[in-house]
Formats: sequence, structure tokens, C-alpha cells
Amino acid sequence: MTDADLIAALIARAEAAIAAHAGELTALDQAVGDGDHGLNMARGFKALAEAAPEIAALPFGAALQKAGMTLVMKVGGASGPLYGSALMAMGKAAEAAPRDAGGAAALLAAGIAAVKARGKSDVGAKTMLDALAPVHAALAAGGGAAEARAAAAAGLEATRAMRATKGRAAFLGERSIGHLDPGARSSALLVDVVCDVAEGL
Ligand code: ADP
Ligand code: MG
Repeated sequence: MTDADLIAALIARAEAAIAAHAGELTALDQAVGDGDHGLNMARGFKALAEAAPEIAALPFGAALQKAGMTLVMKVGGASGPLYGSALMAMGKAAEAAPRDAGGAAALLAAGIAAVKARGKSDVGAKTMLDALAPVHAALAAGGGAAEARAAAAAGLEATRAMRATKGRAAFLGERSIGHLDPGARSSALLVDVVCDVAEGL
């Protein structure tokens, strides 16, 4: 697969996965936030799909950066700038990273660092970081797609018991406990998409 085909496949599948789960993401955000996460993500990934020919024509790292800029510009809500910053940082890291699980771990490390910096947050605050950080740990430990999927699913499930200390859900305090974090769910969906493409599914 060429880089252009890879980027095009990632965008098309991500848009489809987000569109298929927009209602679920919205319902999760209705429980702990303002109920716009499905709409925010659907709008952002629709914009990515529309720009896909232009994005896929770029070198791999530049394509990730352009995708990130598109999300920052198109998505209202915290998640757009957070996912956008992550993709921009991953694009910058891509030039030095090999195309294997180790390289994926290096890219994800850069993306996670960008979310932490932009969100002034860390793992344990009941956010997307709680799905993404375990995936990084799994890849860094030598795991592949199966381990990455399992880590995202477990990280997502672990947000249920957490009290949110970042984002809108933090306003609920103790009442945020017992609900999955919407951003952790969208992150797990995106991890599945990347794994599907990596496995050639
Ligand atoms: P908003 O919170 O502005 O309505 P969204 O509903 O689209 O934006 O996204 C909410 C998700 O963004 C949360 O579920 C959480 O995963 C993530 N999030 C919010 N604030 C932060 C933060 N400071 N750091 C990391 N992730 C965050
Ligand atoms: Mg919201």
C-alpha cells in the first residue's frame, strides 16, 4: 500500500466509524458533558473526508499535520483542538519513526504528549488519555494490533470508575463516576480503525 492509499484508507474508515457511532458518542456526552461529542467528531471527520484527496497527496508526516490542522479548524469543543494537536505532533514525529509497532508507539507518544500539554491534563482525569496511554504502553512493550485494541478497550472501561477532573465532566465531580468518558470511547474507536488498516482488514 502506498502512503497515499494508507492515508486515504485511514480517513475513510475513521469517518465511517465515527459516523456509525455518533449517536453513542453523543449519548455518552449527554451523561457527563454537553452532548455534542458525536456531532463534533462527525463534523471533524466529514471535513477530513472532504479534504482526503488533498491530504493523501502529501508525504505521510505532512498529511498527518494537515489532518490535525483540519480538525482544529473544523471542530468546536475541546476534542477538536486536542485530537488536532495530537495529529500535528504525530505528523512531526513521523519523519523519524519506522513503519512498525515501535514507530507507531513513538508517534502515539508524541500525540499523547501534545494532548497532555494542550489539555493541561494527564492520565487518570477521565479523558481520552485514559484510552490512549494504555495503547502506547502495549505497543512500547512489543504488542501489536491485538494488544493495542485490548488496551484501548480496557482503558476505556477503566474510565467508568474515574471521577473527572478535566473537561466539562469535571463540573459533575462525584456524579461523573459510573459513566464512560466520551473522548475515551472515540479514541478507542480510532485505535480500532488504525488496527484494522494495519492488519489489512
Ligand atoms: P467539549 O467538552 O468542549 O464539549 P467534546 O464533547 O467534543 O468537547 O469532547 C469531550 C472529550 O474531550 C472528553 O470526553 C475528554 O475525553 C476530552 N477532554 C476534554 N477536556 C480534556 C482535557 N483537558 N484533556 C484531555 N482530554 C480532554
Ligand atoms: Mg461535549
